[in-house]
Amino acid sequence: MPEMPEVESLAQFLTERCVGHAIDRIELVAFSALKTYDPPLSALHGLQIESVTRRGKFLDISTQGLHLVFHLARAGWLRWRDSLPEAPARPGKGPLALRVRLDDGSGFDLTEAGTQRKLAVYVVTDPMSIPMVATLGPDPLTDEFDQAVLAGLLAKAGRAQIKGVLKDQRTIAGIGNAYSDEILHAAKLSPFKPSNSLTETEVGTLFVAIKNELASAIKRADGLAAKDLKGEKKSGLRVHGRAGEKCDVCGDTIAEVSFADSSLQYCPTCQTGGKKLADRRLSKLLK
Ligand SMILES: [Zn+2]
Repeated sequence: MPEMPEVESLAQFLTERCVGHAIDRIELVAFSALKTYDPPLSALHGLQIESVTRRGKFLDISTQGLHLVFHLARAGWLRWRDSLPEAPARPGKGPLALRVRLDDGSGFDLTEAGTQRKLAVYVVTDPMSIPMVATLGPDPLTDEFDQAVLAGLLAKAGRAQIKGVLKDQRTIAGIGNAYSDEILHAAKLSPFKPSNSLTETEVGTLFVAIKNELASAIKRADGLAAKDLKGEKKSGLRVHGRAGEKCDVCGDTIAEVSFADSSLQYCPTCQTGGKKLADRRLSKLLK
């Protein structure tokens, strides 16, 4: 799943290729992806692209008065093509959900693998009319996001587990399952620690970890073509998706525990005083 560093790179990639070009036409293949109906997708035809920006994990393509906004969700991706096929895209078994063709024949496909239909596309005059955009928390890449802001957010989250708080887009925009694992590993914090129990020193360490992990991921992704971002994300991760491998800080074996509708990975020695976290869902079922 693309998170903020990948979406930031996609925004830069698309800025270089799309700004100044007009949208020739947009073809919707997976009808469930389009979440708005007025204005229609065809209202974008002929409009010039003025900017491409990131809002949390959303991409916002701004044209003359209209925005094409999308969220790639868990299995979605963007595939750039210097030359799109002339024939209209047809619904079929493939992953293609939406095709955007520019005036020079280049453009991109939004694809979604698997059977879950979570990719979301919006055509709006104001991105803030999309509730999930309007409710986004502060963006950790901005200067406004400082340690005091983080401390306030953690206090407000009460006893909620820090892992869930980092991932909550209404609290902090852009961090997902992978980078929250990386951030907590770098900060040597248990993912299950209650947010309001962090000491001032721990908040400081967490703050530095958030800034550093995201900045270094963006640096690694910088300049990569859209097609190379996915591989780069995976190879740059130190704990996420690496259960059973050795922690490169301490040599312990990276562990895994279920969390919400997914699972998280962590290093027991670095993060939980050597203890394995109990699978709370499982222990609840056994009671
Ligand atoms: Zn470790």
